[in-house]
Amino acid sequence: MTTPTIKLNDGRAIPAIGFGTFQIPNDGSTYDAVSEALRVGYRHIDTAVAYFNEAEVGRAIKDSGIPRDQIWVTSKLWLQDYGYEPAQRAIDLSLEKLGLDYLDLYLIHQPYGDVPGAWRAMEDAQRAGKLKSIGVSNMTPKIWQHFVPQFDVMPAVNQVEFNPYFQQKAIRKLMAPGDVKLEAWAPLGQGNQVLLQEPVVTRLAAKYGKDAGQIILRFEHQLGIIVFPKSVHAARIKSNLAIFDFELTADEMAALTALDQGKGRHDPDAPGVQEMLLNAFDVHAAD
Ligand code: NDP
Repeated sequence: MTTPTIKLNDGRAIPAIGFGTFQIPNDGSTYDAVSEALRVGYRHIDTAVAYFNEAEVGRAIKDSGIPRDQIWVTSKLWLQDYGYEPAQRAIDLSLEKLGLDYLDLYLIHQPYGDVPGAWRAMEDAQRAGKLKSIGVSNMTPKIWQHFVPQFDVMPAVNQVEFNPYFQQKAIRKLMAPGDVKLEAWAPLGQGNQVLLQEPVVTRLAAKYGKDAGQIILRFEHQLGIIVFPKSVHAARIKSNLAIFDFELTADEMAALTALDQGKGRHDPDAPGVQEMLLNAFDVHAAD
């Protein structure tokens, strides 16, 4: 099965659904989960240096035997490596860990500090063919307006928390004129049981013979959002991909849109977030 793609503002086509790898340990679990995802048909993997599992992602890709140009690989630059030269080195390090010559998409993971310097390094690496598409993550309207006007290249995506409880209306408005696509992190609310058991979700699941996760992912897909649910369980890895054989009606989309609470778990604008994140992950601990 080939999954649908979404056209980015740089002309490239990204698979509309991928596989997320946040919080999958590097004890063989990432290798197993990514191998299983590729086996059942995912062709898009989302990782980051701060997930500490790039090496296992790369190994699973290599061992899958699937040609490199048929798999979309995204990784992300961590906060410690912002500024032009650190970012240049970090791009090479990520490629080395993944065992790849290029990344399909590379993101500024957290938008604090010398973001413009890091972005220039990413623009140059894009020209050099090391990064095919470049984008940002966790940009709120306030952060977007601060940084993006300083960029030469418009980001292809902004990867932000997104699910029926947090539909990111304000940032989507700012992204629309540049045709910047939204990538959803936490598309299933990180397994939020309250969300998965919303009456409208369970009603639609029963109607279509689908599970709650599939209803939520389908809703996001119909909004044009790129999703990459994470799971370490084979049954869910498979079911999360099976969202292309049914379609929600306009009324059903409206009922799910009405679940929006306008805020999520993570507030990138909150004071102290940069320090909190810097203290949370040291991507050079093993260097
Ligand atoms: P998700 O919304 O994908 O939820 C994952 C959780 O939901 C896991 O606990 C998983 O459990 C559970 N789950 C998976 N499928 C189902 C299902 N069908 N029904 C019920 N529960 C399910 O959260 P993530 O935070 O993982 O987000 C997705 C991806 O986005 C990440 O993996 C990462 O690649 C990216 N991300 C990016 C961030 C950023 O700052 N840019 C931040 C966070 C994530 P189990 O594994 O046990 O099945």
